[in-house]
Amino acid sequence: MTDPQLWDTLIIGGGPAGLAAALHLAFHHRSVLVVDRGSGPLHHIRTPIFNLPGFTGKSGQEILQGLEQEALKAGARLTRDSIEQIEGSAGHFILKGKEHTYHARTLLIATGITRHHPLIDGDYRTWLPYAGKGNTFYCPDCEAPALLGKHVVVIESVKLKAALSTAKRIMEFAATVRVLLTDGADAAHPETYLDDSCEVIQGNITAVEGENGVVEALVLESGTRITADAYYVSNRKLPRNQLVQTLGGDLDERGHPRTGPRGQLIRQDGGEEDYIEGIWVAGDLLPQTQQTTIAMGSGNKSAVMIDQYLTQQHIRQLGKAQDADNALKT
Ligand SMILES: Cc1cc2nc3c(=O)[nH]c(=O)nc-3n(C[C@H](O)[C@H](O)[C@H](O)COP(=O)(O)OP(=O)(O)OC[C@H]3O[C@@H](n4cnc5c(N)ncnc54)[C@H](O)[C@@H]3O)c2cc1C
Repeated sequence: MTDPQLWDTLIIGGGPAGLAAALHLAFHHRSVLVVDRGSGPLHHIRTPIFNLPGFTGKSGQEILQGLEQEALKAGARLTRDSIEQIEGSAGHFILKGKEHTYHARTLLIATGITRHHPLIDGDYRTWLPYAGKGNTFYCPDCEAPALLGKHVVVIESVKLKAALSTAKRIMEFAATVRVLLTDGADAAHPETYLDDSCEVIQGNITAVEGENGVVEALVLESGTRITADAYYVSNRKLPRNQLVQTLGGDLDERGHPRTGPRGQLIRQDGGEEDYIEGIWVAGDLLPQTQQTTIAMGSGNKSAVMIDQYLTQQHIRQLGKAQDADNALKT
């Protein structure tokens, strides 16, 4: 089905970056649609977040609901869909989602990053009921102090070196830290990375024991049961950059889009100011520290720039976006 409206801005990704941008644009009477497939971390985090000013102690889910409600109240629209393909150019982009086709003058890409979860008997989905729920953690910069005095297992499936780097940071707070290398992780490391205070265990996980999002034990294929107060997933994170590539945007060596100082997407192999007109990027997808406030700030900055761009194009529609077909779907 095709959504008939030509939106001033379509935002791909309804995490903190996309929703902060939606609030700003809607408040400025821009017609704005947020398309989100619902896989971002705040959809799932039930544990409190302590470093988000104004919201300390609220869970990720509560924060996301608050951001969604504020953007909707300002006049933005939010729909659940997954954008798979983008055609067209500034003034009229055509976006094909799994459910619908959309049209927009400008785009903000705020699709975030994917975090790899541990495999349980070969399947990451078994881990999802525990991810960001009770005693599993993913972000040392955000959460390390929550591990004060706890016995922690760092789970790593790519490189021991990466796990030991994470472990060193957690050790400042935790009582003990062990590393569990799973899924054929590379065990090579510089000697200086390992000291006697960090035991390394190797083996694939075949089962998780626990309930209500709290992991009680990991069972390895050897039959060994590993218990701890907290489990730290140190696996790799990859930018969700597929749409940027489709649009001909440039990526840095880690796969993050290259952007100008105002968040505009730089053309592949383009110079510093060779932007693709009408496209901005925000949030964790950018090469920046992956935290909620930073994502929101970059979303807000891009929204200011989009609003100014639309003004330069003499596009101003007073009256809020009110297409009933695009009302909130949850
Ligand atoms: C377990 C955990 C704990 C964390 N704790 C903290 C903390 O305590 N403090 C803190 O500041 N930060 C924390 N973070 C980091 C924080 O969640 C991120 O920095 C923030 O969510 C990034 O926001 P974003 O909007 O850039 O991306 P995201 O929140 O990742 O949102 C991107 C959205 O885009 C959607 N999407 C992707 N591709 C498409 C597509 N093609 N079509 C439609 N939708 C799409 C996704 O479904 C997702 O909902 C934590 C992260 C994790 C995983």
